[in-house]
Amino acid sequence: MKYADLHNHTTASDGLYTPTQLVYHAKCNGLDAIGVTDHDTTNGLDEAKIAGERFGIEIIPGIELNTQMNGIEIHILGYFIDYKVPWFQDLLRTIRDARNNRAQKMVYNLVNMYGMDLDFDEIKSRAGGRENIGRPHIARAMIDKGIVKDIAEAFEKYIGEGCKAYVERYKITVTEGIELIKRVGGVPVLAHPGIIRDERIVNEIIPCGIVGIEAYHSKHTFQQRDSYVKLAKAEDLIVTGGSDCHGDGNPMVGDVRISYENVCQLREIAKST
Ligand code: AMP
Ligand code: FE
Ligand code: FE
Ligand code: ZN
Repeated sequence: MKYADLHNHTTASDGLYTPTQLVYHAKCNGLDAIGVTDHDTTNGLDEAKIAGERFGIEIIPGIELNTQMNGIEIHILGYFIDYKVPWFQDLLRTIRDARNNRAQKMVYNLVNMYGMDLDFDEIKSRAGGRENIGRPHIARAMIDKGIVKDIAEAFEKYIGEGCKAYVERYKITVTEGIELIKRVGGVPVLAHPGIIRDERIVNEIIPCGIVGIEAYHSKHTFQQRDSYVKLAKAEDLIVTGGSDCHGDGNPMVGDVRISYENVCQLREIAKST
């Protein structure tokens, strides 16, 4: 049997592993293929591919787009995308600029509302000076300063949706995200539906054009996993799965894995679009 973990982040977005480190760990954990799905960026893919050749791991070029529906954050994964298309890269850059500005505003709020000893430029330089700063980078800085004990506490008290210091981000709609992925030849998949916690929303997303559903995910319960596998069968969707590894070992790449057969299904659909 061959196995794939189709949901992973690298230092190109909010992961802690470089693309090479991610591929290395995927090899150590016995995987045959991985999806590299950074938030709103494909900047980790070239390095991942080189490492993939070196370690004998197939790299499925992917992305995780942050979109929204009825004010709720919905993540759409895209697989087998032709990511080098210039208009696609321009658009991703616009989305990332918005993310960066918004992270800066949140740091400003944390400093002014709570007197926290945080500095955006410091957070940015610790993230390697990249322009893709997300809330996990802010949360990690808060841990380092002893303000919170872990990332979960930072989201719960300060930077989660609904918190005082939280700032909304420019987001595309679910339908726009799905269309974007299709226009670059990719297969759109609904990420971790269990995190949405609202079945009505999940049912609303299906007719928007997703082709697959991430039934297997590290934050899903066994019941959720089974119910989304059933839903996929009923709606004729491809079942996908991944750990959503961010490089902190919790989860580790490969902790969630699916049969390589599902990767073949995704590839066939990408070819035919
Ligand atoms: P941002 O892109 O800045 O909105 O940050 C969103 C990212 O933060 C997600 O992709 C997750 O990696 C992480 N995240 C979101 N909610 C939580 C949470 N409650 N606990 C830990 N990490 C979270
Ligand atoms: Fe993330
Ligand atoms: Fe996500
Ligand atoms: Zn993710």
